[in-house]
Formats: sequence, structure tokens, C-alpha cells
Amino acid sequence: MKKILPFAILLAVLTAQSGYSQNTPQKTSLNVNKVYYPSYGVMERSRPSFPKIGEYEVMLCDFHTHTIFSDGLVWPDIRVSEAWTEGLDAIAITDHIEYRPYRKYTNNDHNTSYEIAKVAADKVGLILIKGSEITRTQSTMGHFNALFLKDSNPLDVKDPKEALRAAKAQGAYIIWNHPGWAVDSTYIRDFQREVLEEGLIDGIEVFNNTEFYPRSMKWALDKNLAMIAASDAHGSIEKGQMERLGIMRPLTIVFAKERSIEGIREGLQSGRTLALFHNIIAAKRGLAVEFVNSCLTISKSGTTGKNSDYLIHNKSDMPFHVKFGKREIWIGKSSSVNISAPANDSVIKMIFLNIFVSENELLAHDLQILK
Ligand code: ZN
Repeated sequence: MKKILPFAILLAVLTAQSGYSQNTPQKTSLNVNKVYYPSYGVMERSRPSFPKIGEYEVMLCDFHTHTIFSDGLVWPDIRVSEAWTEGLDAIAITDHIEYRPYRKYTNNDHNTSYEIAKVAADKVGLILIKGSEITRTQSTMGHFNALFLKDSNPLDVKDPKEALRAAKAQGAYIIWNHPGWAVDSTYIRDFQREVLEEGLIDGIEVFNNTEFYPRSMKWALDKNLAMIAASDAHGSIEKGQMERLGIMRPLTIVFAKERSIEGIREGLQSGRTLALFHNIIAAKRGLAVEFVNSCLTISKSGTTGKNSDYLIHNKSDMPFHVKFGKREIWIGKSSSVNISAPANDSVIKMIFLNIFVSENELLAHDLQILK
């Protein structure tokens, strides 16, 4: 009987409307004991769209999040449902090994948050990467996320280098987290130099939560580290608020050979990452150029005298803030703009004001006009 109730209501409403009269009481067949309304529990996924680069798949990833199993405020399932509704392809839960203020309410096994979240992730097809955050004094050593772990417990050792080595022994991919957090200046300190020289570090956060560290982009280039942007979420992520602001949660876009956990790992190891935050991108120049070329097309739409009109189309959900000549414009997400430029030009020389390719260096790139 429950299943036919909505139809019964609809029928009652239609019948009532067709026989409407000012003087006749209109009866419905509503169940006076209880009426159901749509559930709040339905997850709705909307995925920001980005074109492939060549054959590489676009994987939207957040490699740094916390739960109640360290100092986060949410149960592991919530990280999965947030990521799925925001259209992400993969996340890592990276609870601190050493800092667990709610330990008396949880347990002593560093794998638990992953194990709980994995059940939820498998149900919706989200890729979940097992991770942990190795946590030491920020001013002297810092924090490091180990990804693709098999077992987080061997990382629970006193010596931070031994913790990193224990992660590497499992084939982990290691990211130096928020190099400028809680300090005034970003420097490479002795400990960090040593672990970089030992080859223990593979990636670096150029953006964490709300902080951008331009200098760490230069280190990523000098030391061949992948550039990472991550939410480092501790509380819940308010998708609605970000949508109102027109931004996405901080993401690392990995260009992967296949849509799988191994595809993500290979993409990271090959350094094919874009760090995306607040409608800004930080990336190595070559990849930034390929990304722009895959997102934007420019074609001539008409000629009047010495100038032509050109239509620039943006296939992506990333807005581009560009400067050409003396003009600045936004090319909105999934939209087109019309510009005027000399009729005989074969390229439009542009500076991308929201794409960083090194410390304090913006992307300059000539957009090829389609024939
Ligand atoms: Zn963290």
C-alpha cells in the first residue's frame, strides 16, 4: 500500500481540481495518520567537468582529510559522502598517527578510519586511498602524508625518519604537507633537506585548506615533486557555501592513464598534477599549457576592416582570467566570449592571471586560432 500512496495523492488532487466548486468541500485521500515527504538522505552528485588531456583521464582527488580517528570532527563515512556529492573521483583519509585527541572514544588501530570508509566508498564507487599523516613539530620537521599504504600501524614509531622509511617500505607515495602552515616563512629546514635528499618525498602541498605557498612551487620544480592542493578538512565541508561563492573545494587533478587507484598512483609518480583552489591553478608549465589547450578553443567569427571577432570557448568548469594586449577578461566556466583582435593574427597572446607556473610567475601562452 505504501508504494501507491503518491499516486493516490496525485489522483486525489487532480480529481479535486477538476471538480472544484466554491461551495463544495474538497476531499483528499491523504492518510491522516502519516504522510511521507522526500528523504533528506539522498546523495546528489554533481561533477565539475574538465576535458581529457590527450588520452589522459581527469581524476579529481583530495589527498588530505581527517576524521574523528585523529583530530577531525566527522565519522569516516561522511568524508566519502561529501567527496561523492562534490563529484570527486578519489580521496585519502589521512588521520594523524601521533595526534588523536578522541582516542579514548575510538581505538588504537591506525587502519580503522580507512576500513570504515572503505565500505561506504565501495558502495558508491569512490576510490579510497589508504593514508596516514606522520606528524612532528611544524617549525623543525613538519607533517607528511603517506598514501597507498597497506598497513598504517608500522608508521607509529618515535623517529620521524623511521616512520617515513616504514611508509616507503610499503611502497607509499609521500607528500610534504603545508610547508608554510603555522610559521611566518617557508624554508627547507635540516630535517626536510635530509628526507628530500634520501628520496623519501614525492609531492608537496602548494595549497592547503586556505593557504597558498608560492615558494613551494619553486621547490616542486627544482626537486621534481608533484604539486598538490588539498582541503585538509577537519570539520564538514559545506558544498552549498562553496557553490554560492562559485568555487570548488581544493583539489588535485591527476591526469591518469586509467580511471583506477593504480592510474592515480602512476599519474602522481609521473608528476601529472594540477593544484586547483579558489579558481586558481598551480602547475608545471608544460601541463598547464596542455590543460589550457584542452579547455579553450578560439575561432574567427567575423571580420570588419582591420579587426576580426574571435569566439573563445571554454569547455571546462574552470573559469579563466586572462589578459591580452591591454584588456583583461574572464572566460567563464562552460561558456564562450567574443573578443576583437587584428584580422591577420594566427595566435592570441595571453597571460593567464589565475594560473601560476612557478613562484610569482603566471602562465603566458599563445592561443592558436582554429582555421
Ligand atoms: Zn592534516
